[in-house]
This record gives sequence, C-alpha cells and structure tokens, in this order.
Amino acid sequence: YFITFEGGEGAGKTSILHSIADKLQQLGYDVVQTREPGGIDIAEKIRNIILNPSHTAMDGRTEALLYAAARRQHLVEKVFPALEQGKIVLCDRFIDSSLAYQGYARELGMDEVFTINQFAIQNAMPNLTLFFDIEPRKGLERISLNKDRERNRLDLEEIEFHEKVYEAYQLLVKRFPERIQVINADQSIEKVEEDSLSLITQYLNT
Ligand code: C5P
Ligand code: MG
Repeated sequence: YFITFEGGEGAGKTSILHSIADKLQQLGYDVVQTREPGGIDIAEKIRNIILNPSHTAMDGRTEALLYAAARRQHLVEKVFPALEQGKIVLCDRFIDSSLAYQGYARELGMDEVFTINQFAIQNAMPNLTLFFDIEPRKGLERISLNKDRERNRLDLEEIEFHEKVYEAYQLLVKRFPERIQVINADQSIEKVEEDSLSLITQYLNT
C-alpha cells in the first residue's frame, strides 16, 4: 500500500509519519518511510535546488517540473520497488502538494499540474492519503516555535499564499473523497497520532 501524508506547513505530518511508521512496524507490518521532494539522492538534490532560499528567480512552471522530476525518480528508485515487495510506503507529501502549491496557490492550474504529473507517475496514485487539517495561521505559529526547522524558500511567502494552499486541500478532499481522509491536526500530537493510526490500520484491515 502507498499511503501519503498531506497538509500545509506545521500540520505535524513529518513527526507523525515517523511515529506511525514505528507503531506499524511494532504491529508487524513491513514499512518504508520516505518524503517528497527527496527520499533518494537525486531527488534530495532537486529538493535543494527548489527550496534554496537564494533561488528567488525560480519560475512557477520550472518549480512544478522540478517537483515532477523529483517525484518520478523517487517513485522509480524507492517507491515502486518497495510496493513490489509488498511493503507499506508512507510518504511525506506527494502529488496533492503539487496540485495545492503549484496548481492552486501559484495559479498554474490544478488540471495542468495534474497533467505533467501524470507523465511522471503513470497512474501511480496513492491508495490512501491523510490530510492533516489545521488553519494555516496556527500551523505557521507552530513552525515559528520550532527552532530546529531548516529555513526554505517558502518561508518568504505571505499568509495569503498558505491560505490558498489550505483552500486547495479542501477542494482536493471534495474531488477525491474516497482516497483523501481528513485528520483533525489541531489537537494534541498524541490524539492526532491515535486518529491517524486507527484510520490506517482500519484501511489495512479491510
Ligand atoms: O514538507 P516539507 O516541509 O518538507 O516541504 C518543504 C517545503 O516545500 C515546504 O515549505 C512546502 O510548502 C514546500 N512545497 C511546495 N510545493 C510542493 C511540495 C512542497 O512548495 N509541491
Ligand atoms: Mg514536514
């Protein structure tokens, strides 16, 4: 199974993904944890190009294409082989991030961004996606409290940009109601973990 974690900044995706992976492993599942953009050498290098705070000249379409390229290589090198071996792949962000950030917030068009991504993924859509739902303002507040977080080019965006990303995720939840499940991320980390784990185990058992 291919399971993706989605949401805006400071929703808790990354830390919850790690703890869920540990818990699933304890339950006997064979789990691979990974992230986008990145997860493998070539894609981590593309990530550094995309997110480098000095690359303020980067064009939106260039950005979308680089995300798609990183996604392609990550699928081929890491995700597809793991899925073929019957593993559960938990991925921090995937195509919905591109639809929300580049398609909607950067106004390239969700359908257009979907089209370039179809070329990259060849129908490899996630089986299940968890959307970590928290108001952008609250998520950004959480991030500002985390001193260890690496700064990136997105830190230069205004709150309005993150509001648009949030709006886009709501649209995606409506468009893919079966695949995308909403997790209330505006709760204690323990509760968010508990909700996520029960949703995933329920999915794996049906
Ligand atoms: O999830 P993570 O914090 O690692 O993402 C790194 C940065 O890349 C975030 O600021 C995120 O908003 C941004 N991003 C983006 N478009 C994507 C995926 C991530 O702008 N398609
Ligand atoms: Mg994260």
